[in-house]
Amino acid sequence: MIPLRDTTPTRRTNPTLNPTGENWGEHKPDLKADFNNHCGYCHSFDGHRHTYFEVDHFVPKAEIKKNGWPISLTGYSNLVYSCKFCNNKKLNKWITNSPTVYNDGTTGFVDPCDVVYDTLFYRTADGAIRPVAHSNLAKWMYKEAFKFDERERSIIVLWNMNRLRQIIDALILQLNTHAVGSNDYNIIKLKLGEFTLEYYIFHNELIEFYEQ
Ligand SMILES: [Zn+2]
Repeated sequence: MIPLRDTTPTRRTNPTLNPTGENWGEHKPDLKADFNNHCGYCHSFDGHRHTYFEVDHFVPKAEIKKNGWPISLTGYSNLVYSCKFCNNKKLNKWITNSPTVYNDGTTGFVDPCDVVYDTLFYRTADGAIRPVAHSNLAKWMYKEAFKFDERERSIIVLWNMNRLRQIIDALILQLNTHAVGSNDYNIIKLKLGEFTLEYYIFHNELIEFYEQ
């Protein structure tokens, strides 16, 4: 079984800036680093579409305002680096009457910086996200909150582009250790061509998702 992601992100305790009011966006560079350039929820890599990444309020802004909950809108511990697709699907969903109770066991959310988040989802061999069979909470987040099922093809494309990017980067490093024209150089170059073509085909498919 392929894990959703390699590591669980951790929020720093001392953010670089101390924004107030509605300026939570100032935390974006810190969040980008703490979430390792990936969406907290679907783990898509932001290298292909940086402008498509946003600062999400884990406990939604609307709920905080409506209920007068004592959470600062710029409080770092409530923020998630999120692709716009996860952010748009999540919107103002919140199922409990408390800002400290995230779920009731079958519906609701788990903080993506909690190691439990990683136990709720896995990847199929082609990179699609699936909820684990024994968790209704995972199934609810999968289908009702983030709609990973509706977004499956773009999730697969992004996961494969990230996988191929890492392979291509590693091969380029290897290539540069061999003399131009040597046997090893030519073999690595040939492999690079194959992986780059595969990447390019996924890349062209991704452009179509941009335009939707
Ligand atoms: Zn996402």
